[in-house]
Amino acid sequence: MKKVVYRGIRDVSVADAPEANPGRGEVKIKIKYCGICGSDLHEYLHGPFPKSPFGHEACGEIVTLGEGVKDFAVSERVCSVVPGSFAEFISCPVERVLKIPADMDWKRAAVIEPLSGAAYALERAQIKGDETVLIAGCGTVGLMILLGLKAMGVKNIYMSDLLAYRREKAMGLGATQTWNPREIKTSAKIKELTNGRGADIAIEAVGIEATLKDCLSSVKFGGKVIVQGIFTERALVHMLGFVTRETTMIGTNSINPQLALSWIKKGDIRPESVVTKIIPLGKIKEDGFEILAGKSTEDIKILIAP
Ligand SMILES: [Zn+2]
Repeated sequence: MKKVVYRGIRDVSVADAPEANPGRGEVKIKIKYCGICGSDLHEYLHGPFPKSPFGHEACGEIVTLGEGVKDFAVSERVCSVVPGSFAEFISCPVERVLKIPADMDWKRAAVIEPLSGAAYALERAQIKGDETVLIAGCGTVGLMILLGLKAMGVKNIYMSDLLAYRREKAMGLGATQTWNPREIKTSAKIKELTNGRGADIAIEAVGIEATLKDCLSSVKFGGKVIVQGIFTERALVHMLGFVTRETTMIGTNSINPQLALSWIKKGDIRPESVVTKIIPLGKIKEDGFEILAGKSTEDIKILIAP
């Protein structure tokens, strides 16, 4: 079978790999789509990530059951979250497999994992519904957070991004207002929008110093900053403000698929709208990673179809 092999920075290619036969407690999945995650792009550009999750946003159909597997059936549709899924097939332990409804659109299934990341982040943020929230960044992470907040009934959601097409996407998905943080100072704008109080919660969804600073300086006294962006560089932040304003800062990197599925079941969220392109396995470098790295197109989430 064909599989993408990660060899180092900007060095990935398709190679022949041994058939992914399932071991005890595993199922073999024929992969329909595997999305390129921000963490994959980070690895592509900067080198391996701790416990490399390269290629983990997969969905597909079960083709073989390993020994001892009871609760799954052949041809059942599932999502899975194991590295190595830029491949035609993957075998993975049933604990990392999630059943999805048989009529779920495949594009939607492919973004359950990033939506689950937002679900986990918002669970940690302990959202009640009446908060004013800033999301710094309108990429996949920020947009999934936006959808989650909408599903949780939050009404005042402000978002910043340098790129106009991403801000438009955010508005289309229900953001209250967006702006370019290079043109409008985010903390001043948030103060203006909240009668000088500041946001209850700010969510960092990019992974750079500038957006982290915007989040820290935009929350109210006793506010929360949730950090989900993947940082490449160290960030220098103003700790005096952090201390005197008694800010809580929470890092988040896990997933809550059950909460994400419950948002979808409730109805009107369309996480698949972040998908901008579907490309074959062999094009992952030129039409996938290089495109996302260059930011020269209006892409947000690219799916690989093995
Ligand atoms: Zn991911």
